[in-house]
Amino acid sequence: MPELVFFSGTMDCGKSTLALQIEHNRSARGLQGIIFTRDDRAGEGKLSSRLGLVTDAVEVEDGMDPYAYVVDHLSRGGRADYVIADEAQFLAPQQIDQLARVVDDLGLDVYAFGITTDFRTKLFPGSQRLVELADRVEVLQVEALCWCGARATHNARTTGGQMVVEGAQVVVGDVNQADAVGYEVLCRRHHRRRMTAAAARAAALSPDVLPVQPA
Ligand SMILES: [Zn+2]
Repeated sequence: MPELVFFSGTMDCGKSTLALQIEHNRSARGLQGIIFTRDDRAGEGKLSSRLGLVTDAVEVEDGMDPYAYVVDHLSRGGRADYVIADEAQFLAPQQIDQLARVVDDLGLDVYAFGITTDFRTKLFPGSQRLVELADRVEVLQVEALCWCGARATHNARTTGGQMVVEGAQVVVGDVNQADAVGYEVLCRRHHRRRMTAAAARAAALSPDVLPVQPA
């Protein structure tokens, strides 16, 4: 039976690396996939991983229908044995429904990869719809680590190294500006205390630092 599978996790947990591995394993067996992505760090129409691998992909724009795209591809004599959707948290809920239709009406496996929650610990709408519709949700086992060494379960947004908890849900980071928006994965305890690695270093150097309160 074809499936809609949601591979979920924090940033830095290896989602895009696994997406590329699935793509590699299947093309090595002569299968052909369609790869969708949105706002990848490598630029439009790319699927990349932090380990440096990259492949071409179809950029999902606002209002685009991934189901119609696959139908059109097949009707032109193109081949598709499976579908990968990376950065699926950035897709609209309606586009997740259209991916489910690829599974049900076209009989193709769809592997979606995405961050579950945003920097405020709230579900991305696309990820929420995936949790609602997926046949299976897989929480990735390549675990990202907080600066304290604990399992990182939450995404923090930083501005100039300080954690922020307000702002638009989607802001792409820019490493070329000193006060630019950045992201860091933290354990829940340090996300609640807004203690990034930089804040922890500053606290450790401060002579009048108070003892850490029990959680
Ligand atoms: Zn921590």
